[in-house]
Amino acid sequence: MSIFTKIITGEIPSYKVAENADFIAFLDINPNAKGHTLVVPKKEENKIFDLSKEAYASLMGFSYQVAKAIEKTLPCKRVGMSVIGLEVPHVHVHLIPLNAMADIQFMQKVTFSKEEFVDLAEAISKNF
Ligand code: AMP
Repeated sequence: MSIFTKIITGEIPSYKVAENADFIAFLDINPNAKGHTLVVPKKEENKIFDLSKEAYASLMGFSYQVAKAIEKTLPCKRVGMSVIGLEVPHVHVHLIPLNAMADIQFMQKVTFSKEEFVDLAEAISKNF
């Protein structure tokens, strides 16, 4: 069972931004930039391109809605998207508010207090 499935079942906590029957979006715990969010299908699958075309399209549709909410909440040049999965083998889309190339390079990290994460998740969620 992946760490993201544990989040989905409520076994471990997350800073939830959005959810529907098939997907959940929560803040990345080790963000590249403020507002870095992960969008995750509730059905655990390892690789994104092993999803059916329909499941892939619906993941993109939900990510689109989450990206709009991030864009509304945080000033940035644009919201960037990345798929990696080398650390957590459970499909997820990284949505990252970008102001500079460094924000999407997964080298620079920013830290927030628990309260800051809670407030940020709530602010994005209100715009969803
Ligand atoms: P990757 O699998 O390479 O796409 O990276 C996995 C991402 O998940 C990293 O950016 C981690 O910071 C993030 N991550 C790992 N565990 C958690 C967690 N419990 N809550 C939120 N984000 C997490």
